[in-house]
Amino acid sequence: MLAVDRGHYAPKNPYTDAPQPIGYQATISAPHMHAHALELLAKHLQPGMRALDVGSGSGYLAAVMARMVGAEESEGGKVVGIDYLSPLVELAVENIMKADADLLESGLLQLEQGDGWQGYEKAMPFDCIHVGAAAESVPEALLEQLKPGGRMVIPVGTTSQQFCQIDRLPNGNFEQKSLMGVMYVPLVHPSPRI
Ligand code: SAH
Repeated sequence: MLAVDRGHYAPKNPYTDAPQPIGYQATISAPHMHAHALELLAKHLQPGMRALDVGSGSGYLAAVMARMVGAEESEGGKVVGIDYLSPLVELAVENIMKADADLLESGLLQLEQGDGWQGYEKAMPFDCIHVGAAAESVPEALLEQLKPGGRMVIPVGTTSQQFCQIDRLPNGNFEQKSLMGVMYVPLVHPSPRI
């Protein structure tokens, strides 16, 4: 996290340990929440691994994940950040260009506008998936796009939410554990384009 300056990603109080608004009813999560998610995913963010960040918002966490999978000049590492709001995808690109442009230029980090409920099939399977918005149920597509041996962390629920860890076992089965109560913005169902 020290490798990516939050000052380029949060418009106000970047170093305060609390979520900050970034516009469009989205927030950049508090640093302790980013740290917690990264600790849970660390074994699945080794150099050369592939990760998906659903609800990438400010782009901060996706950039940190990219620094992890791209460390030690490893090959094959890739992070895809996906957000359904194109202005937020543009904002994330602007933020990243301030001091982390190399991540986008090398292709280590890719940002896409799209519906996170569908994941990002083109780059599957993923060693890990981080979901930064609360889903009323675990999206089926995300389970399918997780590698055996991989891990997803996802807030699940509506008014009451649990931060869940889902491991895909080497045999393909899933093991789900609730870790703690949390409060995230909802993973919405974007209306289809006409
Ligand atoms: N990890 C981000 C969190 C941003 S808040 C950060 O720390 O900056 C959650 C984000 O989820 C918002 O940007 C919102 O636009 C996005 N989101 C909500 N529903 C979504 C969906 N169905 N698909 C993709 N992104 C979604």
